[in-house]
Parts: sequence; C-alpha cells; structure tokens
Amino acid sequence: MSITISGHTGLLALLGSPVAHSISPLMHNESFRLLELDYVYLCFDVTPEGLKTAVEGLKSIGTAGFNLTMPHKTAMCSLADELTPAARMINAVNTVIHTDGKLIGHNTDGTGYLQSVRAAGHDITGKKMTLLGAGGAATAIFVQAALDGAAEIDIFSRKSPSFLRTEALVETVNRTTSCKARIFELEDKVQLNQSIGESYLLTNATPLGMSPKEDTCPIQDCSVFREDLIVSDIIYNPRETLFLKYAKERGCKTFNGLYMLLYQGAKAFEIWTGKEMPVNIIKEKYFD
Ligand code: NAP
Repeated sequence: MSITISGHTGLLALLGSPVAHSISPLMHNESFRLLELDYVYLCFDVTPEGLKTAVEGLKSIGTAGFNLTMPHKTAMCSLADELTPAARMINAVNTVIHTDGKLIGHNTDGTGYLQSVRAAGHDITGKKMTLLGAGGAATAIFVQAALDGAAEIDIFSRKSPSFLRTEALVETVNRTTSCKARIFELEDKVQLNQSIGESYLLTNATPLGMSPKEDTCPIQDCSVFREDLIVSDIIYNPRETLFLKYAKERGCKTFNGLYMLLYQGAKAFEIWTGKEMPVNIIKEKYFD
C-alpha cells in the first residue's frame, strides 16, 4: 500500500534545526504504511524564536502530536500543558501527544537508550554505570537508568551550567530512587579510572567523536577498556567513533547510538498510535 493523504489523515511532525537529515520521517511513515495507519510525519525547520508560534499553530490545527530535537527539547517544557514525571525530572521533552485539547510532553530518549542496552543483550539492573556528559541526552539516560534499577551511576562532566544542573538532579535521584548517583569533573582522571574500573557499562553521551569532529574522543587513557566492560556511544554518525574503536580493540563489547534512535522513535510511535512500531522490519530496512 502506498501512502494516500485524505481529509482524515493525521499530521505528526518533527520540529528542530537542522532537521532535513533526520531518519525519523522514514521510520514513522514506513511504519504507518506497514500498519495501514492514516498518519503522515513531516519535518519542519523551526528556529528557537519561532518555536512558540509553531507549537501554538500545531495545537490549533489539531495535529496528533510531534517530536522535538535540538535545540528545542528544554524550551518545550514550558510550552506543554502537562509533563510526564520523567520529562519533568529530565527537564526536556522530545515527544508531545495532543489529546483532549492538551499537549502532553514526554521524554523517550532515556527509555530508548535503555531499550537499546537490552537489545544489545545487556542488563544494568543492580549494576554500576559510568556516564560521560551531563547534557540533554545524558540527563535522560541518567534518570531512566536510575528508574530502571541501576545500582550506581557516576557521571563525568565539564564544570559548566550542565554540571551544576545535574548536581541538583543527582540529589533528587538519590533521595527518590534506590540508585546511588555521583557527579565528578571530567578532568578528574583518577576518579574517572576508578569509576570505570568498578563499572559494568561505560557510556559516552558527549558529542566528542561525532562527525565532523571524528578525531576527538572523551577517553585518553585506553587502559580503562578492560575485556569485561560494555562500552556504548550514543553517537551514530559515524557508526564507529574513536571511543568505540579503541574499546573494541581492547576486547570490549560495544554498541552505537543507532538503536537508541530507533527505540526512542518506537516509543513515540506507541504514545501517538497505541500500536507497536514494527521495529524488526524498520531495523532491517534503515538501521542494519
Ligand atoms: P547537549 O545537551 O549539548 O549535551 C552535550 C554534553 O556533552 C554536555 O554535557 C556538554 O558539556 C558535553 N560536551 C560537549 N562538548 C564537550 C567537550 N569538548 N568536552 C567535554 N564535554 C563536552 O547535547 P545532547 O542533546 O545531550 O547530545 C549529545 C550527543 O548525543 C550528540 O552527539 C547527539 O547527536 C547525540 N544524541 C544521540 C541520540 C540518539 O538517539 N542516538 C539522541 C540524542 C542525542 P557542557 O554542558 O559543558 O557544554
């Protein structure tokens, strides 16, 4: 079946800048086609100044929902009518459902990452994780990993506004979950080596290594990559960052950010349509 747009077709959208490179329209439109759902998913390049007007416009024309990508995830928090507890804690929204006249903001980045960990054959329940970065994606991963039962999470970040924000969130997580979280400066190499040495999973959630700066890497001392350490990078362009390459050379099991992208989209699809995305077909077609 090809896509037929009628007067009943529901509109879903991605708002960001830039957005033209996004794989999201492919995975959602193909899933609508496969499940014969009457929706279409389009990308709109929206500036930070234009976000409020774009969101009000989508609400007034009765769109079914939308995704947000850089740089709009935090700004969307104050434009939504309601936030899920995870989106409020993370202070970022990447998925909005328009229901009963209200825009409800969700965050599926964290659940997408944790699903990608499981899809790679790993389970962080009761284990320790070291997380590099304290930006939007890192925060979503941190909160979801704590909610999903990670025993300990050590976060490493530059001393910046994100560090200070995450420091406050660490206190909240320690107070409200059974996870024991700590945050350190990325420059503290002694602590970094000790934390990685105690960890089951090491995750890069900084843009270090992402195209076009492919020659950068968040880890300088490759002796931290021991054989039984699982190493993941949420970057998917390139598919193998220097960080993953060095880890793989030292015998670590590694995986990149492609499946995080897939599973955060699959969760958004489920929120909008109430149906499961046919992930195996989508994976084979666009992600393998
Ligand atoms: P972000 O909010 O800008 O956060 C970036 C984090 O990395 C911040 O903690 C930042 O520190 C740190 N950082 C940036 N440059 C650094 C450097 N040179 N040295 C040390 N730390 C540095 O970005 P984001 O949205 O979290 O995205 C981070 C990466 O994840 C990007 O590569 C993005 O493409 C990727 N991502 C992937 C997915 C997926 O589905 N696979 C989803 C979301 C994001 P400061 O705050 O101090 O600048």
